[in-house]
Amino acid sequence: MKNEITYLALGETSRIGASSHYLRLGRWGILLDAGIDPHPSAAPVVPEYERLKGQPVNAVIISHAHLDHLGSLPIALRHFPEARIYLTPATAALSEIMLYHYLKVQERRVHLERTRYQPCYLEQEIDHLLFLFQSFAYNFPFKIHGFQESEITIQFWDAGHILGSAGIEIRWKGTRIFYTGNTKKSPQFILRGAKYPAGTDILITETTYGDNETAPFIKRPSEINRLVHFIKERIQFGGAILIPVFALGRTQEIMLLLHRLITQQKIPPVPLYLIGMGIKINRIYDRLLHKIYPDYKAKLLKTITGDTLYRKKFRKPSIILATSGMMMPNTLSYEIASDFLLDRRNGIALVGWADPETPGGSLRQGNQQKIREVFGVEDIHCGLETFYFSAHSHREELISMVEQLRPRQVILCHGELSSQGWMKERLEEKRLAEQIILPEKHQEITLG
Ligand SMILES: [Zn+2]
Ligand SMILES: [Zn+2]
Repeated sequence: MKNEITYLALGETSRIGASSHYLRLGRWGILLDAGIDPHPSAAPVVPEYERLKGQPVNAVIISHAHLDHLGSLPIALRHFPEARIYLTPATAALSEIMLYHYLKVQERRVHLERTRYQPCYLEQEIDHLLFLFQSFAYNFPFKIHGFQESEITIQFWDAGHILGSAGIEIRWKGTRIFYTGNTKKSPQFILRGAKYPAGTDILITETTYGDNETAPFIKRPSEINRLVHFIKERIQFGGAILIPVFALGRTQEIMLLLHRLITQQKIPPVPLYLIGMGIKINRIYDRLLHKIYPDYKAKLLKTITGDTLYRKKFRKPSIILATSGMMMPNTLSYEIASDFLLDRRNGIALVGWADPETPGGSLRQGNQQKIREVFGVEDIHCGLETFYFSAHSHREELISMVEQLRPRQVILCHGELSSQGWMKERLEEKRLAEQIILPEKHQEITLG
């Protein structure tokens, strides 16, 4: 027991949902991520923290500020009031915005009578937990506060997924554990590719694109060319292009791409409207991005944002970036799309993943009948195209990460079962680890 390491998946294990993992290191306990799986009309799915009753939780470490890794943090703190929260400075700043915003979204749904479920936490709970944040930069090993004798050292590595996203390295009594969080090995438009430690003993990795066989062959330049062609065509028609985007990550990446395309004169200098929650997130990027990557200027995105007063000043031709990325009903991207679908001059460019059950998902699938139903339109006339600009490593990148890290044990998470299955098979075939584990939810696994 003294030197034993055990692992327990508290959140989803066979799909992407509420991420949360518990590590017990002797008499110490660490929770990695506290995610939520929001549901527009039903109650959100929250990890079953009560399962850890009687077990120590000294630290909650948040890998990045997307809700599937962060959204149930206030609930976790009800169960583990003595734990401190560890994250990078950017994740701390972004988490504050994301948690208050998610609470507002829940309150609005209750107000619009779209759900009978009350918000799953209170504003005061967010107010309080912000005081528990302990932030540390990348590549800066630290100890858990007040538990120096635990001999646990933690280090954040740049995960390349969104601003502040971290791979989490834990070292204890000669054993190294590395949790990837969400990771992107190759560079995006703003973010640099992920950095990993030289090696590890136990690897807990995401597998988001494990079952996507085409992703490794899609090259960014050709996707950019397709997008350029799509935008130019719509502009020639005198139309506008809607790009539904996640507020955190995708908005900023696509904004910088569009800005570059305009300055390189690859697309005409049309107005670029940014509407929705991405505006708030941009301010954090503008405040912190240049501190992480010194060759960026401060206020990078502010210099790019054109007119954000979409409702008052909208004119065509133009490009609109609007939340939500999944185009949930009552969001700006959903409302604009309902309008745009009817006009053949317009276009909708889908640049990010969307759950197949959401309106954005039905657009991605191109199911005409379903699109008509979901968006309440009689006919679809506008241009519609899907592009691949992922913030996750594709499966060959994941395999090469394992090759680099050479772990003894690998735990596969954050992906569909088919993704995990492909990864397991491939890792076994290449003999890249002694043991590859597909954890069952709530199954305690002894490691090391
Ligand atoms: Zn993420
Ligand atoms: Zn995620």
